Amino acid sequence: MDGKFLDNDIEKVVDADRAHVWHHLIQHAPWTGDDPKADPRIIVEGKGMRVWDQKGKEHLDAVSGGVWTVNVGYGRERIANAVRDQLIKLPYFAGSTGSIPGALFSEKLISKMPGMSRVYYTNSGSEANEKAFKMVRQIAHKRYGGKKYKILYRDRDYHGSTLAAMSAGGQDERNAQYGPFAPGFVRVPHCMEYRAQWDLSGEEYGVAAANAIEEVILAEGPETIGALCLEPVTAGGGVITPPEGYWPRVQEICRKYDILLHIDEVVCGVGRTGTWFGYQHYGVEPDFVTMAKGVASGYAAIACCVTNERVFEMFRDDSTDPMNYFRDISTFGGCTAGPAAALENMAIIEEEDLLGNTIKMGDYMLDQLHALADKHEVIGNVRGKGLFLGAELVTDRASKEPVDEKMAAAVVGDCMAQGVVIGMTNRSIPGFNNTLCYSPALIVTKDDVDEIISATSNALTKVFG
Ligand code: PMP
Repeated sequence: MDGKFLDNDIEKVVDADRAHVWHHLIQHAPWTGDDPKADPRIIVEGKGMRVWDQKGKEHLDAVSGGVWTVNVGYGRERIANAVRDQLIKLPYFAGSTGSIPGALFSEKLISKMPGMSRVYYTNSGSEANEKAFKMVRQIAHKRYGGKKYKILYRDRDYHGSTLAAMSAGGQDERNAQYGPFAPGFVRVPHCMEYRAQWDLSGEEYGVAAANAIEEVILAEGPETIGALCLEPVTAGGGVITPPEGYWPRVQEICRKYDILLHIDEVVCGVGRTGTWFGYQHYGVEPDFVTMAKGVASGYAAIACCVTNERVFEMFRDDSTDPMNYFRDISTFGGCTAGPAAALENMAIIEEEDLLGNTIKMGDYMLDQLHALADKHEVIGNVRGKGLFLGAELVTDRASKEPVDEKMAAAVVGDCMAQGVVIGMTNRSIPGFNNTLCYSPALIVTKDDVDEIISATSNALTKVFG
C-alpha cells in the first residue's frame, strides 16, 4: 500500500468513523466504551487478492470484499478509467431514456444468457428482486384478474433487506423483529441433502425436494401462484448446492402450473460458480434472473433484473392502456458508471479466462477443503460450486449437531488475526450459523488457496484442538 492514508492522520478518520458511522451487521455498544479492542476496522486499500487496513496490516481476502462481490479483484485501473471517462462524458440521466453504456452492457449481458432478452437497471440485489416481484404482481393483475399473485420462496434462501424481499426471506434469524411482512409470499421446503428431510440421496433426493414444492402449490391452489423465486446455490443460508434431479423437476413443475421461474443470481451471477450464471450449470430456462454483486465487482453500484421476451411481451401488448407498462423507476438506475464498469468487468473475465480459472481453482480448493476435513473431525460437510465453497462445522459427525456460532466466529476471528479474511453464515438460520464460507476473487492462485487453507487449519486446531 502507498501509505497515503496512514500519513493522512488516520486516527482522525478512525475517530470520525467511531463517532458517526453506523456499520452493517454489528453491535456498536463496545465501541463507545473504554474497551481497547474497540477500534472499528477500516479497509484502506486493495490490490489483486489483498487489502490493507488502517494499521497497515495486510489481509488475503477469501470473501471478495466481505460479501462475495469483488470478482475481478482490487486495483483494476481499466474499470476506474472507463468509469472516469464516462462520468466526464455523462454521469447520469434518467426517466424513460437510455445511455450508451446501458445499451452496450445490456447487449453484452444478454449474449451470455441464451433465452433472456431484456435488462432492467437498478441499484441493489434487494431492489432487483423487488422489481421482479412487482412484475409478477402486475402480470397477475393484467392477465389473471389479480388472482395469480403469490410468490413462492424457499426455506434458507435470502433475497434482500427491503421489506418485500424479507417477506420472501427463508432465514428466520434475519427476519426476527422486522415483521409483519407483506402478504402473498409462501415458503417451500429447502433442498439440503446433508440435512435431509427425506431418506433418499442424489437424484432421488433432488426430485423429492422439488416434489415438495409441488405439494405446496397444490395446497395453495396453482391458480394463485405467480412465481417461484430460488437461489441457484443457496448462499448465506449455508452454501447449499442442489443435487442432480432438482432443477429439471423444478422447471417441469413451473411449466405444468404456468408459474414464472425467478432465479436470484445476486451472489452466483457473473462468474462466481465457473459459468456466467449459476443456473447455467443445471440447464434451467428462467423467466427472471436478478443479479448484483459481481455485475461490476463492486466498482460501481449496479444491479439488474433480466427477463425473457415472454415476460417483456406481457407488458408491451396493449400500449394504448396507460396502466399497462411497468410503472416503476429507480433513480440511480440512470447512473452510467454502473454499466460502464460492468462492461469492463465482463471484458476482464473474458480476456483473462476467469471462468476457466474459477473451475480450476474451485476444484483445487474443494479438494483442499476435503483434505482439511480428513484432518479436522469438526468439519462435517464440505460443499459448493466453483469459487463459492462452504465447510459446515459440527460437534459430532454422526449426529451432525452444529457447533455453537461463537466457535465458528472464533475460527473466522483467528483467520483474521493471521491475515486471512474468511466468512461464515451469519445470523441467518437459528442454530445453524456454523458454515465457514469461501468466495475468493476469480483471479485466485494455488498459492493463495494454500494460504487460505493453512490459516483455516491453524484456526481450527486453535479453537477445537
Ligand atoms: N439475494 C441474495 C442471494 C443475496 O445474497 C443478497 C445479498 N447478500 C441479496 C439478494 C440482496 O442484495 P443487496 O444487499 O445488494 O440488496
